[in-house]
Amino acid sequence: MTHYRKRILIVEDNRIDVRLLKDILEEHGHETVQTGDGLEAINLAFEYRPDLILMDLQLPEISGLEATRRLRGDERSRRIPIVAVTAFATQWYKREALDSGCDAYVSKPISMVGFLTTIEPFLSLSRIVLPASKSRANQVYARLALVRPSVPVRR
Ligand code: MN
Repeated sequence: MTHYRKRILIVEDNRIDVRLLKDILEEHGHETVQTGDGLEAINLAFEYRPDLILMDLQLPEISGLEATRRLRGDERSRRIPIVAVTAFATQWYKREALDSGCDAYVSKPISMVGFLTTIEPFLSLSRIVLPASKSRANQVYARLALVRPSVPVRR
């Protein structure tokens, strides 16, 4: 598990899921900021400059897919890793999430081990420029073995 303190933006409108994600991340020493609104999430990403964004795909105003596309379209947020979190765990939806610019995908209900295993590589890599293509996730994992830092990366 990572021992480096990171800044994580939680975009989630379900209070129980927010509580769970915050508890897990803060338990591991990370700092979190949360919103349940996709438009506010975009502004928070610009202001807060998180190392990682957790994006619920079902949000009340704009969807998590749309918020992700907008974040990917702006230079200020283009390179921030985004992990989708959703109860709609179909192959079609997973493809939509990756095509919209998400780097990985976590299904609800959230399993702590599965969740931490999914986000850990992005926290370690978050200071390294990631490729901005549609097969981002595969490329990130391919690069992981080559460029993963062996010492803590501090901001
Ligand atoms: Mn939701």
